[in-house]
Amino acid sequence: MAFGFAQAFRTFGKLTLAGAIGASLAAGDVGAEQKTPSPGSAKGQFGAVSLPTQGSAQPIGFYAKGCMTGAVALPTDGPTWEAMRLSRNRRWGNPAMIALLERLSKDGAKYAGWPGILVGDIAQPRGGPMFNGHASHQIGLDADVWFTPMPARRMTAEEREDLPFTTMLQKDKFLTVDPKVWTQSRARLLMLAASYPEVERIFVNPAIKKKMCDTWTGDRTNLGKLRPEYGHDSHFHIRIKCPPGAAGCTPQAPVAAGDGCDKSLAWWFTPAPWAPPKPPKPGAKPPKPPREMMVSDLPKACAAVLDAAPVASMQAATYGGASAASAFTAAPAAEPAADAEGALPNLGPVPNDKPAIQ
Ligand SMILES: [Zn+2]
Repeated sequence: MAFGFAQAFRTFGKLTLAGAIGASLAAGDVGAEQKTPSPGSAKGQFGAVSLPTQGSAQPIGFYAKGCMTGAVALPTDGPTWEAMRLSRNRRWGNPAMIALLERLSKDGAKYAGWPGILVGDIAQPRGGPMFNGHASHQIGLDADVWFTPMPARRMTAEEREDLPFTTMLQKDKFLTVDPKVWTQSRARLLMLAASYPEVERIFVNPAIKKKMCDTWTGDRTNLGKLRPEYGHDSHFHIRIKCPPGAAGCTPQAPVAAGDGCDKSLAWWFTPAPWAPPKPPKPGAKPPKPPREMMVSDLPKACAAVLDAAPVASMQAATYGGASAASAFTAAPAAEPAADAEGALPNLGPVPNDKPAIQ
């Protein structure tokens, strides 16, 4: 390849395990340590609210610095999705985001050979920064979807808390997708998600982006929407554009033209992204730790969002109405024979058109 992946492997093949997995350095979604936020911090304030505001849905501010009004919840269950980690109360989003997830789940079953999606964090009831796990997801326009397919049954709440993440990467190799885990159905699900016009970016691990660059033989028009990022090896992160008319939403620049299989990807396969921070010079002052984000650092309207009256109940604000909200208590779907062994599947279905390259 023009930008020398092979050379990068030869030169930098012995990086640390963190680099090898490409998943442990948390700049994006995973691994941020949990600290008790100080009173008045935006994390503390927004994390303590359990219900969204009444009124119309508005994203306020930027993906990584903002809040939202009028959020709706993804129902915990649908025909083609199950929400995960319910105790976190992060199933909330702009209705456009929730609608997109439901659509992706249906289309995935129909077109990608993906039985259903497991949905991770979307946002808190009023958005804002979180205690742990994310820099963005603050205005209801970001959502995480697992690379693990939905099992052919309804998981219990406990299972949804405990189901481990499955990395798509080889643990003993530098930034390499595990061919025993990765499937073409996952590739198709990603490209399906990228095909929706409202989807602006999808964050994936650099190894996954590279895999897509190397193996995707279909239309590559939307491949550029797949953006390499730390972590994102067991889930992908969908970001949609500011919805039409959302005056308080700060848009992000569109992705550059092209498939993104270029220098911007090759950089991830150099030591630069994985280098440990330089030790301070002897006698130098230790650097100040980054200041905690306060509510006053967010757009002004976010203070009022915290104080606004809540909706009557979670059910009342569930997308699709109260009947959709109660699905979790309904009888589980019948168990198909495919799940007869009782184990949760780690692998997606083998597609009919499995490419020779795998
Ligand atoms: Zn995310």
